[in-house]
Order: sequence, then structure tokens, then C-alpha cells
Amino acid sequence: VIVEQQRQVLPGFDREIAEIVETELRHHDVGLELGATVGAIEEQKGGLVVKTDSQDLRAEVVLVAVGVRPRVELAQRAGIALGATGAIAVDDRMRTNESGIFAAGDCAEAHHLILGKPVYVPLGTTANKQGKVAGANAAGADARFPGIVGSAGFKVFDIEVARTGTSPAEAGDRALRVVSEQSSRGHAYPGASKLKTVLTVDRETGLLLGAQMAGAGVVAMRIDVYATALHAGLSVDEIAGLDLVYAPPLAPVYDPILIAATVAGKALAKAVA
Ligand SMILES: Cc1cc2nc3c(=O)[nH]c(=O)nc-3n(C[C@H](O)[C@H](O)[C@H](O)COP(=O)(O)OP(=O)(O)OC[C@H]3O[C@@H](n4cnc5c(N)ncnc54)[C@H](O)[C@@H]3O)c2cc1C
Repeated sequence: VIVEQQRQVLPGFDREIAEIVETELRHHDVGLELGATVGAIEEQKGGLVVKTDSQDLRAEVVLVAVGVRPRVELAQRAGIALGATGAIAVDDRMRTNESGIFAAGDCAEAHHLILGKPVYVPLGTTANKQGKVAGANAAGADARFPGIVGSAGFKVFDIEVARTGTSPAEAGDRALRVVSEQSSRGHAYPGASKLKTVLTVDRETGLLLGAQMAGAGVVAMRIDVYATALHAGLSVDEIAGLDLVYAPPLAPVYDPILIAATVAGKALAKAVA
């Protein structure tokens, strides 16, 4: 059973993506207690009891996954400045406010290239790159870490889920939200399934701001294409024209990436007309 105080299992994703995950979990007999808050976990004879505001759930194992906070006490005591996120503020050379002291990884902020501000997204992808840059600069080099676009993904039973860039909610008024559905392979090919994509597009420029995707097929590697497009500053029309692979066992003649971008381009044209 998953207990989640929000009304959907993935608060960081749009509803359509969360619904795919919820369906997959239920399909594999995982119970979902959404909109329920855990008040206590008690040890009782024969196991644990998780007390929510609606019921008591018996369990042998309880996994608590309620978010991540940076450990910055040591840095604070040393006079290192924190950013607005509560993690250590760093520049693109991983320098802190104290000369000769660098920070990298889960204790530090990263510059978000699409939001244009420091964020706290503690992932191994960022920690590795920041660590290299901090180490090189501490040894006298002049290395830079320009920033992140917020790419992350995971697998739930038989489906993949991933996102990059900003969600429509994070992007605010400038965002046009476009939801579409595609086939994971050539339509007639065995094993083809549906993928769902949510794109966030800048209403004025047509630039891609973010992408979320879920389904039983290749999702994470497709999100990587969107992440590359974010780094390159491509519009949805430019993405729709990319030369991507087609072979029925692998992808339809128009890859889901191209179809979602085409749908977004049309929605944009309609929205500004
Ligand atoms: C279950 C789990 C799954 C994850 N999966 C992914 C994933 O799939 N993809 C992804 O990108 N990221 C993932 N992450 C996040 C990723 O592991 C972290 O972002 C990354 O390890 C951070 O690297 P770091 O070097 O900043 O910190 P850490 O890897 O935490 O290393 C910090 C080290 O410092 C040591 N330490 C702490 N305090 C002191 C002290 N006072 N003195 C000496 N040593 C100290 C700790 O013991 C630790 O070894 C996952 C994290 C978890 C917990």
C-alpha cells in the first residue's frame, strides 16, 4: 500500500502521467491511499501499524519516502552562504562565498537553465558533474558547470516514467500545456503500446520548456532527446523536424517525440491565432 497525502502518486508530474502510474500500480495489486496523511507508525505485536487519518494499516516493512533536505549544518557553522532553496549557494565554478571552499552534490544548489534560477534537485547525475568541476577548480583548473534542465526518470513495474525541463505549473503564464498520445512502435508491430506525453511550450517563442512522458516502452531515452533540445534551445517546430530513427520494432515512422512536438506546434498556432 502506498500512502500519499497529495491526491496523486506523483505530485511533481501532471495528472495524465500520474494516472498511468496509478493504473500500473493497481494492476499489480498495489493499494493506493491518496489524500491520506500518516500520523504515526507504531510497533505492535506481530508487526507495524501505520496510522493514517482514515485507517490503520498493518505492515511488516514501512518505507518512508517524504523528500530530501540538504545537510548544511557543517557549512553553516563555517560561514558558508546558503541559497533560497536551503542548499549551499554556488557559482558555475562550484565556488561558495568563501574563497577556496567549493561545494558539489546533494548539499549544493544547481542553476536551472530553463527556470533561470538556482534549484535544489539532488541527483547523482548532477553530483558527479559538479564534483568533477569542483575538484578540477580546487586543483587550479578553470572548469564550469553551466547547469541542469531537471531530467529524471524511473521504472514502475512494466512502465517507464521520465521528465525534463519545467512542468506547466512551474513555468506559469508563459506555458502552453499540450497532452498527446502516441504508439511506442510501428502500429502493426507486436508489442506496440501507448505512450503519453505532456509538453510545456513557451506561448510567445514556441520554445520547448519541458516534457513529461510515461508508458510501456522506451520513455527515458526519448526524454533525453527533449533534454538535448532544451540545452540547444529548440522550438517545438524544430523538434518536429528532427531526423530520428524509424524501424517498426523500435519506433513508428514518426517517433512519439516528433508526433508530440507536431501536436504542440499545431496547438500553439491555434492558441495564438
Ligand atoms: C535510494 C536512492 C536512489 C537513487 N537513485 C538515483 C538515480 O537513479 N539517479 C540519480 O541521478 N540519482 C539517484 N539518487 C541520488 C544520488 O544517489 C545522489 O544525488 C548522489 O549520491 C549525491 O552524491 P553526493 O556525493 O553529493 O552525496 P553522497 O553520495 O551522499 O555522498 C556523501 C558522502 O559523505 C559522507 N559523509 C557525510 N557526512 C560526513 C562527515 N561528516 N565526514 C565524512 N564523511 C561524511 C557520507 O557517508 C557519504 O558517503 C538516489 C538516491 C537514493 C537514496
